[in-house]
Amino acid sequence: MHIETLTISQARKDLDEKKYSAVELAEAYVSRIEKNADLNMYREVFTDVIEQAKKADAMISAGTQGSLCGIPISIKDNVLIKGRLAGGASKILEGYCAPYDATVIKKIKAEGGVFLGRTNMDEFAMGSSTENSAYGPVKNPCDESRVPGGSSGGSAASIASNCALASLGSDTGGSIRQPASFCGAVGLKTTYGTVSRFGLMSMGSSLDQIGPITKSVEDAKTFFDVLKGHDPLDSTSLPESAYTKEKHTVKKIGVPRGLLTAGVDEAVLLNFEETLKKLEAKGYEIVDIELPYAEYALAIYYIIMPAEVSTNLSRYDGIRYGLHIDGSGVDDEYSRTRSEGFGPEVRRRILLGTHILSAGYYDAYYVKAQSARKLLINAYTEVFKTVDVIATPTSPILAPKIGAVEDPISMYLLDVFTVTANLTGMPALSVPSGDVDVEGKKLPVGFQLTAPHMQEERLFAVGYDIEGVR
Ligand code: GLN
Repeated sequence: MHIETLTISQARKDLDEKKYSAVELAEAYVSRIEKNADLNMYREVFTDVIEQAKKADAMISAGTQGSLCGIPISIKDNVLIKGRLAGGASKILEGYCAPYDATVIKKIKAEGGVFLGRTNMDEFAMGSSTENSAYGPVKNPCDESRVPGGSSGGSAASIASNCALASLGSDTGGSIRQPASFCGAVGLKTTYGTVSRFGLMSMGSSLDQIGPITKSVEDAKTFFDVLKGHDPLDSTSLPESAYTKEKHTVKKIGVPRGLLTAGVDEAVLLNFEETLKKLEAKGYEIVDIELPYAEYALAIYYIIMPAEVSTNLSRYDGIRYGLHIDGSGVDDEYSRTRSEGFGPEVRRRILLGTHILSAGYYDAYYVKAQSARKLLINAYTEVFKTVDVIATPTSPILAPKIGAVEDPISMYLLDVFTVTANLTGMPALSVPSGDVDVEGKKLPVGFQLTAPHMQEERLFAVGYDIEGVR
């Protein structure tokens, strides 16, 4: 087997034709993980990987395999797998063992997928570089002096280093797409409500979606097909009737040129323009578009997200989960446990969120941000009457060096192109569109496509053309 070029679809064929077994495939991945331990991608490699692979082989022999049967998959540390530790890369959850399976995990288990381990991430998914993990940063396999992006940095790095064939990430403001772009992987943030959030550690509940990080667009589609579907355990899960069967041919790609100004790296812009030219040569019409309110997306996100964070993270009280520090009374225990257990970025967002939701500021910040969010959704809906998809770079810059982005605001600015899909609930895909030579290393660049709700198929169609597979 050629792990470097292996995809889910190729492995599926090989496994079904018995070219190699799921056990052999799993062994190959486990040995690669051991060799790449210094990248700090995995928080834990499971000790029963081979046992799981044996079960997958039995399913293949019995002819009961699903599309992910025997596929070695890494799972972000914020998705619950029954009976296994789950930490959100936070000290506050040290020792916490998941009492049930997330819905997505149940679905992968039913297919016969093989879980390799839990991937490192920014604490509770807050960050864009994986430097906010309580367990040290992940190194980017393309250049180990650089970050892999975040917050699903361990997941993206596990794909880039061929230490997993597919990975599960979560995306609240770009956490699947941005690390995928920094690591040269494909990352899909699906329509809000298509993939169940049951069993995902909540960050911003109106923004969070679980989704795949893979090596090809086809694999992202295969994985998404397994993950999606109505789940009565998630009240925001879309009903089956929301899934349209109608096919839509993508002809027009809209480019919001007004957003591609200050702060976007020249090499990123160059790659973006070249990719647009290639798409034009394939017959797509590239049109300039205005996206009213898009310039406010970051401001809206960094109000709504911390507000939801502060509410969601109130559950970590030192009593129900993980860390507990004794104090003089209940308030003292809360405060000691939360001060000790949460890292600085998480504390910052809880403080911001609490302030935003406080009586005197709720209207000025939260209510206003919600109104602006509505305007943004309306603006996108209008624009999608004139174009089929919208294209931007995934990130304004290439992967920075570890430690280079020091202040939080500069880090937040990296999310400028990704947060909109979360605010609007629309699906977005990051596809590798080439790389740039920097200091003798090849740094990947990602091209982001956004489509209207439930139109993931449009993203895949253009994605295949960017990959050049058709
Ligand atoms: N980088 C963004 C943030 O820090 C997005 C995080 C995410 O998608 N989980 O909020």
